Amino acid sequence: MTSTTTAGTASSAGTEDVEAFRLRVRAFLAASLPRKDERSGPVSMAEAKQLQAVLFDGGFAGIAFPARYGGAGLTLEHQTVFGQEAAGYRMPTPLAVSVAMLAPTLLDHGSEELKSTHLPRILRGDEIWLQLLSEPSGGSDMAGVLTRAVRSGEQWVVNGAKIWTTGANHADYGMCLARTDPDVPKHAGLSMFAVPLAHDGVRIEPIVASDGGTPHFFQEFLDDVELPAGNLIGELNNGWVVARALLYHERNATAGVGHGRGYRAEADAGAATGTGIDDLIDLARAAGTTGDPVARQLLAEAHVAAVVARQVGDRVMTGIRTGAFRGDWGSLLKLGMGIDAPRRGEIGLAVGGTGAVVWDDGADDGAHDDVDRHSVKWLTARTISIAGGTNEMQRNIVSERLLGMPREASDDRTVPFRELLSRRTAGS
Ligand SMILES: Cc1cc2nc3c(=O)[nH]c(=O)nc-3n(C[C@H](O)[C@H](O)[C@H](O)COP(=O)(O)OP(=O)(O)OC[C@H]3O[C@@H](n4cnc5c(N)ncnc54)[C@H](O)[C@@H]3O)c2cc1C
Repeated sequence: MTSTTTAGTASSAGTEDVEAFRLRVRAFLAASLPRKDERSGPVSMAEAKQLQAVLFDGGFAGIAFPARYGGAGLTLEHQTVFGQEAAGYRMPTPLAVSVAMLAPTLLDHGSEELKSTHLPRILRGDEIWLQLLSEPSGGSDMAGVLTRAVRSGEQWVVNGAKIWTTGANHADYGMCLARTDPDVPKHAGLSMFAVPLAHDGVRIEPIVASDGGTPHFFQEFLDDVELPAGNLIGELNNGWVVARALLYHERNATAGVGHGRGYRAEADAGAATGTGIDDLIDLARAAGTTGDPVARQLLAEAHVAAVVARQVGDRVMTGIRTGAFRGDWGSLLKLGMGIDAPRRGEIGLAVGGTGAVVWDDGADDGAHDDVDRHSVKWLTARTISIAGGTNEMQRNIVSERLLGMPREASDDRTVPFRELLSRRTAGS
């Protein structure tokens, strides 16, 4: 699959020297972007769009994208350098899905018309894309999607339902996986489409999450959504390949490698340099547990995990850049995060004392803010073990595609999807 993805290339003659690029990035960021400040809170979507436009106008958006699509025409090595330099600045993290996952997928598989129309807008943050993959019937079995697209003259007509969509309230387009041929095995009858979310046939409903915050998850109902034939992304019935490319970029971006370098959440900045656990140390200080031997041991455990994650991330990034690592290495990093993040959440609860298990509905009470916020972090830390494919699915990928172990036994790769459905309906 990697042969079809934008893995980027190493510096070659005519490409800007990376150290010269580093100096240029450093000067640009210092002059153009606000520095991170612990008290200033997460970046909102409105701020993200402004920041992305600043990056784009300065020539630092889509660093490894071709210049004809609005990118900087450089390599993933330059993107890495950019990420290192950007660690101390407020970055357009809420646009990571659109810029670092959907845009590279469109670059890999979109038609020339889709790429030249949409990529410059996405890279500037003027247009936001998201992924319409998961369905109420289940997300792990992505090839089992029930949403269908039927050809009608010059159009496609899409019907179905998607769920757990992050950021549908801000987005303009969804990359939507739909079944176009139910009479072939399930992976062979899928196609990917660009769906404008403002279409009359798209109804978007929020899902309230357990952290009680503003909804960031949505469910979409697609009723007779008519799409021009040109909204097909990739080849007809080859949507599985496009979906895999999307997941490849998602896992890389989640792990902070590939095109996502520099776009990770603020909380990760500490992990990029220094102890990697500054937030947990602050939490222990606020709770007065820094002298407690058990708390110290737990902090050391989190520190070791952060250092190892950073080093493995650097190694994978180098492997992707040089071509030594081909395939789903982002899954290994994503699995590491899916294990580390919930554990880090538990450690925060342990070192943060009793105050860390409650929160005060966003009231700003000064000294205890880190403690109050941790309980929400503990809740949300679990999401990384599910989003973009659960830990179990990453383990399957690592074992089958990286370690070359045998595939899980199943007959659903050979049986026509329609027959699978009737079996499911009959309960067999
Ligand atoms: C924060 C967050 C953001 C998300 N954003 C999006 C988004 O923008 N767009 C989108 O389309 N989706 C999104 N999702 C949905 C996500 O992709 C799915 O939740 C995920 O793929 C799992 O699907 P599911 O929840 O339906 O669980 P299921 O697929 O029903 O799985 C249930 C359990 O069974 C296990 N399981 C299933 N199959 C296997 C197997 N073969 N081997 C071993 N174990 C198995 C799973 O690991 C899991 O523990 C998001 C989810 C989260 C948490």
